Amino acid sequence: MDQIDTYRHKGLRKELAVQLRDKGIADKNVLNAIETVPRHLFFGNDSIFFETHAYEDKAFPIGEGQTISQPYTVAYQSEALQINPKDKVLEIGTGSGYQAAVLATLGARVFSIERHRKLFERTKPLLEHLGYTHVKCFFGDGFEGVPSYALYDKIIITAAVPELPKKLLPQLAIGGKMVLPFGNETDCTMLRITKQAEGQYSEEILSPKAFAFVPMLKGKVF
Ligand code: SAH
Repeated sequence: MDQIDTYRHKGLRKELAVQLRDKGIADKNVLNAIETVPRHLFFGNDSIFFETHAYEDKAFPIGEGQTISQPYTVAYQSEALQINPKDKVLEIGTGSGYQAAVLATLGARVFSIERHRKLFERTKPLLEHLGYTHVKCFFGDGFEGVPSYALYDKIIITAAVPELPKKLLPQLAIGGKMVLPFGNETDCTMLRITKQAEGQYSEEILSPKAFAFVPMLKGKVF
């Protein structure tokens, strides 16, 4: 937490944003958020990776067998969510907090839930410390969602789901969208589900490209 953000880090982020643009991320606000959020501060204090690898377009371990998502994936899902300022966004899988910080930088009010107590206990104060006051963290099972703060304009799942989590759809506002990696760990398709009316949904396959995610698992880990 005592690490700092330097001009070198800022320069590396600029390069990363250019790389992501070249890979097809077109939304300027998303690229700007990638340039703004200090990803190296989300790796965990004891990580040996953060200085050298934070601004490579790769996923990295953050403890508890979990990873900080690849920047391309974070940018891709953020773009797919079509965030409007003040949108209420539910994130399943807080992990390092990096995706939540990117969404907050896009102007969203973020509600993020994590099933690993240790990650929750590390990331909640980190986000507060870094000044992300519009992110609210919860410890719990994302399959249940966070009904107490529903309805959400957007829902993002940041772990691979083999089947649609049924309890999340009712927590989506009408006109709201949910973006999720559908499939298994090594081969996910990105889906976007739009709630057209109560009980009525449309589905788009955004990318047949295979994404890699850790699996979404049931229950909490203490
Ligand atoms: N958004 C994170 C990605 C972390 S990887 C980031 O930017 O770093 C996915 C995360 O989802 C992991 O931390 C994992 O513990 C969490 N997860 C998996 N299943 C979950 C569930 N049912 N509820 C909440 N979190 C879950």
